[in-house]
Amino acid sequence: MVLQDLGRRINAAVTDLTRAPTLDEKAFDGMIKTISNALAEADVNIKLVANLRKTIKASVKFHELPPHANKKRIIQKAVFDALVDIVDPHQKEYVPKKGKSNVIMFVGLQGAGKTTTCTKLARWYQARGFKTCLVCADTFRAGAFDQLKQNATKAKIPYYGSLTQTDPVVVARDGVEKFKKERFEVIIVDTSGRHHQEDALFAEMVEIQTAVQPHQTIMVLDASIGQAAESQSRAFKETADFGAIIITKTDGAAAGGGAISAVAATHTPIVFIGTGEHLLDLEKFNPQSFVSKLLGMGDIQGLAEHVQSLNLNQKDTMKNITEGKFSNIMKMGPLSKMAGMIPGMGGMMQGMDDEEGGMKLKRMIYICDSMTVKELDSDGRMFVEQPTRMTRVARGSGTSVREVEELLTQQRMMGGIAKKMKGGMQNMQKAQGQM
Ligand code: GDP
Repeated sequence: MVLQDLGRRINAAVTDLTRAPTLDEKAFDGMIKTISNALAEADVNIKLVANLRKTIKASVKFHELPPHANKKRIIQKAVFDALVDIVDPHQKEYVPKKGKSNVIMFVGLQGAGKTTTCTKLARWYQARGFKTCLVCADTFRAGAFDQLKQNATKAKIPYYGSLTQTDPVVVARDGVEKFKKERFEVIIVDTSGRHHQEDALFAEMVEIQTAVQPHQTIMVLDASIGQAAESQSRAFKETADFGAIIITKTDGAAAGGGAISAVAATHTPIVFIGTGEHLLDLEKFNPQSFVSKLLGMGDIQGLAEHVQSLNLNQKDTMKNITEGKFSNIMKMGPLSKMAGMIPGMGGMMQGMDDEEGGMKLKRMIYICDSMTVKELDSDGRMFVEQPTRMTRVARGSGTSVREVEELLTQQRMMGGIAKKMKGGMQNMQKAQGQM
């Protein structure tokens, strides 16, 4: 997972400092240095790291702190705010409006994840009630249209493309015109990411932009791009002037700091991140939530958003989760994916790769499979009252009593968290009502 190791190192630096016997300025400087090194090693742009050093130092003013000030709190907040600053360009993103045709054009190098992300984003808007469609304006790569067609069909999203027309500008214009006439609300245009020469690629991007007049252009960046992100995103910005960034493959092993630095290089917000190959693996990006998650502080807002994106019956789901019913908790998807969003739970799955996380999840499903309907619909208290139930379930599922207990503990945590999520969900719905 992108920057996961970085988060752990930053946390450790702050914790080490606040546990140190003498919390003096020298120790404080040492912490800033450790954090800076960790950021630089994660490929975060060196100028940004230098700025962060200055910002933390300036905002804490160590030697001016009153003797009884809560130094830990102040330092934690300064680190948090400085990290948020790196990923927050303070630029507003374009928000598509219902009842009108919003054209979104994707740009980025081949292999960055454009086609996959176009479909993910189309599904994201579709799940939020927008009439959504896709246009394939990549006529350069053989098979591009086929790929988009396959993805779109799977997601049940209308699409447009041509097997015979070789001019991408014509395809883009025809597709957008057709869908505008049909009153589609979100029209996403996928473009080519490679050409014989880079100049030709950039010229084509501009021509398509002129032809379809997008309300928003999104640049797709692969998380593993490293330090090259800065020059690449600048080059795209100068030509295509994108207004938003999506970082893909954040589930991979790449450090990811390079792609994240593109925000500062181009003063452009990250709007989503790709978290896997599946259609649902797209998360709305929010600087505060991102840093919260990075530092293992959880992300209730993100969790609420995740539940909403599953398109379950929200009222019932929230009610049942609050009541702690297993059957509904399992519907919320891979616990490994949600773990980082849940305060205090990120650590539980830490250090596991996807396969391990998947195995763990499978065992949890086996456990649930071995429960009776009554047990599944319970709040878990009957297991405490009759511990033999745990032994029976463990035996039936081929797991251990300890694993059954662990699942029960999670269920209790989720119940408590769901109560907090209700607040988050309500805030989010309010915000969406203003769209
Ligand atoms: P394009 O050339 O920019 O259109 O890139 P594609 O959409 O064809 O994606 C290239 C590869 O990256 C494909 O194998 C995708 O499945 C994969 N991919 C895209 N986004 C993600 C992501 O967020 N996570 C992972 N693990 N793979 C991704």
